[in-house]
Amino acid sequence: MSYSLGGKGILETIESDLVIIGGGPAGCTCALYSSRANLKTIILDKNPSVGALAITHQIANYPGVSTEMSGDDLLKLMRDQAIEYGTDYRRAQVFGVDVTGEWKVVYTPEGTFKARALVLATGAMGRPASFKGEAEFLGRGVSYCATCDGAFYRDKEVAVVGVNKEAIEEAQVLTKFASTVHWITSNDPKDDDFHAKDLIDQPQVKHWSKTRLLQIDGNDSGVTGIQLKSRSAETEELIPVEGVFVYMAGSKPITDYLGGQIAVKEDGGIVVDDFMATTSEGVWAIGDIRNTPFKQAVVAASDGCIAAMAIDRYLNSRKAIRVDWVHS
Ligand SMILES: Cc1cc2nc3c(=O)[nH]c(=O)nc-3n(C[C@H](O)[C@H](O)[C@H](O)COP(=O)(O)OP(=O)(O)OC[C@H]3O[C@@H](n4cnc5c(N)ncnc54)[C@H](O)[C@@H]3O)c2cc1C
Repeated sequence: MSYSLGGKGILETIESDLVIIGGGPAGCTCALYSSRANLKTIILDKNPSVGALAITHQIANYPGVSTEMSGDDLLKLMRDQAIEYGTDYRRAQVFGVDVTGEWKVVYTPEGTFKARALVLATGAMGRPASFKGEAEFLGRGVSYCATCDGAFYRDKEVAVVGVNKEAIEEAQVLTKFASTVHWITSNDPKDDDFHAKDLIDQPQVKHWSKTRLLQIDGNDSGVTGIQLKSRSAETEELIPVEGVFVYMAGSKPITDYLGGQIAVKEDGGIVVDDFMATTSEGVWAIGDIRNTPFKQAVVAASDGCIAAMAIDRYLNSRKAIRVDWVHS
């Protein structure tokens, strides 16, 4: 199945038993179990380097692995093990879902995915829109996904805010389109950060070092500029940009792509039962996205195991839905 999207050419619609959004310890463990249960499983992961486990320098309390291991190395082991058992791991940022039908539909810039069961495992590294103008202009110039929206800014000026790996990678994506990428960092990248150095060396990148974003300005047609304050300057600076891409990590469950379709608790965590099922049939939620009181890798992995076993049971009881791939 395929369809055409704007200037991006023909994009595929891919069907599977199970789509897992998020490739952290929760998502990878769920995929390991579901793949071993012979369920056609796809993980859609925005970026393997930016989740909570991926940024953990050293993980000394995950049972059975070396106390010297980095979170990134542990996550790679988990991911590789799931892939070895048949998981289809793809890098893609999910920007929307439709959970109303029998088939759950997941939208990404790389294509659309349809599954008989959907698992939400995007963790809790999100934050509320906190810059002045950020919420007001979200979707009208403010974005969190350069791969989704970068092409709209061909030959235009844009700003990228943040110093983490995701900010650097997304700014690199924008250099393919924008005339100027203003990179704004309140703390500077480390001297040995070669990815940051590569970015700054690009001719269309202007690095605003030790500078804070104060406000995003705009009008009825969207973003028109930003206000900045450098630590060394007396006054604020106004820069005309049409796009602002914000990459700052926080500690709020990442649920923005759900469009309010799944019930959440007052603290932002997704409501689940003992089997990790949400209030929407065919949709499960695992790991930090639940805003669990004890956010630990082993807890996230345990959630993934529970959900996969529950999903296997659920899908086996619904064999009437026809699929067009063969289970051996
Ligand atoms: C600094 C730090 C240190 C920690 N130290 C420890 C420790 O020592 N021991 C321990 O057990 N736990 C530790 N934790 C907690 C542990 O890392 C988390 O509990 C665990 O990683 C949660 O797993 P998760 O899979 O739910 O989420 P995450 O690990 O956050 O993974 C979420 C994944 O979802 C992806 N994603 C997000 N949005 C989207 C989207 N829209 N589309 C597609 N993919 C998306 C992200 O790229 C990421 O890969 C630490 C956490 C932090 C932040």
